[in-house]
Amino acid sequence: MGIDGNNILAESLKRQGIEYVFGIVGIPVIETSLAFQSVGIKYVGMRNEQAAAYAAQAIGYLTGKPGVCLAVSGPGLLHCIGGMANAQVNCWPLLVIAGSCPEDHEGIGGFQEWLQVESSRLYCKYAVRPPSPKLIPLHVERAVRSACAGRPGVAYLDMPATLLTAEVDEDKVPLDFYNAGPLTLAHPDPSLVDRAAEVLSKAERPLVIVGKGAAYGRAEEPIRKLVENTKMPFLPTPMGKGVVPDESPYCVSTARTQALLKADVVLLLGARLNWMLHFGQVPRFAPDVKIIQVDISPEEFHNSVKSEVAVHSDIKPFVDALAQKLANKKFSLQPSGGWWQALKEKQKKNTEFVEAQANDKSLPLNYYAVFKTVQAHIPKDSLIVSEGANTMDIGRGMLLNNLPRHRLDAGTFGTMGVGPGFAVAAAMWCRDHAPNKRVVCVEGDSAFGFSGMEIETMFRYKLPVIIVIVNNNGIYSGFDKEMMEDLQGSGDVAQCTPPTALSSEVRYEKMMELFGFSGHLCRTTQEIEAALKEAVKVTDRPSIINILINPQANRKPQTFNWLTESKL
Ligand code: ADP
Ligand code: MG
Repeated sequence: MGIDGNNILAESLKRQGIEYVFGIVGIPVIETSLAFQSVGIKYVGMRNEQAAAYAAQAIGYLTGKPGVCLAVSGPGLLHCIGGMANAQVNCWPLLVIAGSCPEDHEGIGGFQEWLQVESSRLYCKYAVRPPSPKLIPLHVERAVRSACAGRPGVAYLDMPATLLTAEVDEDKVPLDFYNAGPLTLAHPDPSLVDRAAEVLSKAERPLVIVGKGAAYGRAEEPIRKLVENTKMPFLPTPMGKGVVPDESPYCVSTARTQALLKADVVLLLGARLNWMLHFGQVPRFAPDVKIIQVDISPEEFHNSVKSEVAVHSDIKPFVDALAQKLANKKFSLQPSGGWWQALKEKQKKNTEFVEAQANDKSLPLNYYAVFKTVQAHIPKDSLIVSEGANTMDIGRGMLLNNLPRHRLDAGTFGTMGVGPGFAVAAAMWCRDHAPNKRVVCVEGDSAFGFSGMEIETMFRYKLPVIIVIVNNNGIYSGFDKEMMEDLQGSGDVAQCTPPTALSSEVRYEKMMELFGFSGHLCRTTQEIEAALKEAVKVTDRPSIINILINPQANRKPQTFNWLTESKL
């Protein structure tokens, strides 16, 4: 019996455990998507390839198995590149598969002809075009393994139209060619565990930093135990939130600056000392801080600052072993000791500031009042997707995660436009693995605009995503109607419209009317509360809650006005 490239690809992906494909079809991959569905792979058609790439990588992070992004040739693949870079920078597994122009049209201006393998290589751990149908299973296996092994990342498979339709004898195709199965965890060198335990047990002001590598590594159980037994303060990175609950008494997010600044030993679990952690350097860290760095990727060691102990290991076995060692040493911090007292004092002060802002319900609302209300009325186990500038920054502190891998945001690359794609994937995951769980997608108005049309995808697949748009008429901050009119009236529209501005009071919630439903427009905390209560009841379609806030609302009261502010 004959089998073509499309079906070989589908069978191979199935055998490698791929469950989800997100994509947009067209020539030459329509049959490909049908072949995927025929072997029982779920196919989710998106509205923009970039969003499809974001969705596929979110599935990779949530499940530990790469999601596939399927695209057409040329522009289709090129639209995925931003998503590929985002996955690679976030260290998330992703497999991109694109059709490409028939091989016999190459070099003579074929339809959507482009150097796709070369274009992808910069964003990938593995990028190839299988040279024949029979070699598709081999390259699928390698692509999946490359995406997951060691530090996760991106793989790309290029599928010319001629390869997809080429028929070969099924008996000659090694479909069961190889399946590496789950990789065993890399264990630490025992002498390094001893060394780490020794350095920690001598610390006066230890701090555990929990990164998204720990979340990806499913290390929540040993890390929770370690923190509880040793009573060490911990700080999650944005997507490290929830590995240990935000509501744990050992979480010092509300004294982050102080904790980083004063720690004498940092146990760094699955996080890089990049911009997000201020490079581990002065002035944000103590000059003589000792770093115990644990990472699956040894190339990461000693970047920016030299680590005192560098452990090449999966987080989970390392933390298991370390916890045991520290228990033997009976190492545990005193809650009444100086380190905890200093942190608690700072926590109290910072919490008071936030509370005061959050209780200020004067209109138009400020961010803190909005987030306090949102936090109070969403299910506590919700998966939170978040992006935007102030929306993401302020929301990070106020929207709590008590479960691992329950936050998806702009990440290491600071990418805007990821939200709706991430939310589609998260909602698909919930439907299949945790049907009562909700996805709350908290978007700045600018961030939402990048991929807002994915609302149609959410409707089509009946995904009950609660989209909350924190609408300040702009990027960072915006202007009210009158001010905007004054500004635009003062000369040429393209010279006078502030680049940070968006139209005032855009009625994003009316996008619901495209589908025959109505959305929620909110200006007060009571309206937000009522809208959330209704949205939580809806289980078969998305909801949009558009919250108009003070366009000039910001972090603390402004020292500089927008024209002279140079911090951006
Ligand atoms: P964050 O944004 O939370 O700071 P990063 O993405 O900077 O996190 O860092 C994650 C780190 O975790 C990467 O250096 C990656 O190599 C590492 N990592 C990923 N998975 C594992 C794992 N299972 N065990 C150990 N380290 C891991
Ligand atoms: Mg905005």
